[in-house]
Amino acid sequence: MNHAFPRNFKSEYLKAEKGAGIYIFDADGKEYIDGCSGALVSNLGHCVDEVIEAVNQQYKKLEFGHPSRWSFPIVEEAAAAVAEIAPKGLDTVWFVSGGSEAVESALKLARQYFYDRDGIYTSKSLTIGRWNSFHGNTLGTMAVGGAMSRRRIFSPLFKESPKIEATYCYRCPFGLKQESCNTRCAYRLEEEIRRVGPQYISSFIAEPIVGSTVGALVPPDEYWPIVRDICTKYDVLLIADEVMTGCGRTGKGFAVDNWNVVPDIIATAKGLAAGYVPTGGMIASTSIVDTIRNTSGGFMHGHTYNSNPIAAAAVVAVMRYMKEHKVIENVARNGEYLISGVRKIAAENPIIGDVRGKGFMCGVEIVKDKDTKAPFEKGVGAAGVATKECINAGLIIYPSGGMIDGVEGDNFLLAPPLVTTKEEIDLILERLSKGMSAASKKLLK
Ligand code: PMP
Repeated sequence: MNHAFPRNFKSEYLKAEKGAGIYIFDADGKEYIDGCSGALVSNLGHCVDEVIEAVNQQYKKLEFGHPSRWSFPIVEEAAAAVAEIAPKGLDTVWFVSGGSEAVESALKLARQYFYDRDGIYTSKSLTIGRWNSFHGNTLGTMAVGGAMSRRRIFSPLFKESPKIEATYCYRCPFGLKQESCNTRCAYRLEEEIRRVGPQYISSFIAEPIVGSTVGALVPPDEYWPIVRDICTKYDVLLIADEVMTGCGRTGKGFAVDNWNVVPDIIATAKGLAAGYVPTGGMIASTSIVDTIRNTSGGFMHGHTYNSNPIAAAAVVAVMRYMKEHKVIENVARNGEYLISGVRKIAAENPIIGDVRGKGFMCGVEIVKDKDTKAPFEKGVGAAGVATKECINAGLIIYPSGGMIDGVEGDNFLLAPPLVTTKEEIDLILERLSKGMSAASKKLLK
């Protein structure tokens, strides 16, 4: 009898024994490349001495104090280090324990901002979200998220939020071609704000590049600047969910930097402490923080593990390591090499329909027929088959399923640690090619 509740009783789990760099070894000593950094978490690779040592040092100094009583120099240091890579004007960080908490904090901060700014009769409270998007598994984050399979059972537990379509150029939800679409997906936000009424809307939340639901959906270059302008026009706060894309994943500090857009709030996690300690952070603009400081005097929100000194020590060490080893520069330099390498594999492989992404975040969509883009039938579990075959080839990938015309589709993310070298990318591509070739033979049999 197992006492630890597994994610899925039917899954076969690999028994992890130890890690080193981009590799994880199982209990039998077999080596795997962590080709998805866990779930885009382990940005520095595994068991980096400098980070472990820094966390240990903090343990010896002080492991915990309640954030309602104590402030910690190490937390201030961590916030300053995060602000350094955040877009200009976003310089106040609220530390939490993970991505869902970071998003929940953002939704509540947006509401409190208008409450403090406009008074208790303000009706600005709703957050517009997008379909095919994931913002977390708590009730508030599920309400703004659009991951159908995760919502199905639990939707009676939360209050629905308005939704628009996510960008999905391979299967445009409006049936348009990118060359002539006039970024219809971005202007849908304006329609929705006007339909609901801007007086009821506090914020719009989106992942700059959709991650876990449909695998690295990169929007057209015009998308984020248009969305920024619409939010400003209607006095709606823009929340970028950078839980996956933040902290260097796309070759920039945060993914919104790819389009020079400054949101009002960023939610981040995963790469923030790179898996060394469970951590998340909400980064807010100076004007939001000043409004709250000067009106109610404090954010009416909080958790026991806010501003945790151990987590902060990990964040400081991760940020320092990234700077000293020019980690973000490595992604900027080699991201295209990784993605074009996957495109070359796709050209030879009959079931890879689309390859997309930025930096070290590459999404792969599996289809039954490349010409018609028809997905495999429900129940085939093509992403699962691909994952198994890649694991057999010694490469861990991150499978997901999004909605394609009302059917769950098959995608996966290839997103190695941000420290991965060009030579290691070659090895990843070799294993991916082998795994996907075996998967296509099985699936097209
Ligand atoms: N937002 C995004 C974009 C995510 O990818 C995730 C996790 N996959 C979350 C929020 C939730 O983060 P957590 O699992 O740490 O609660």
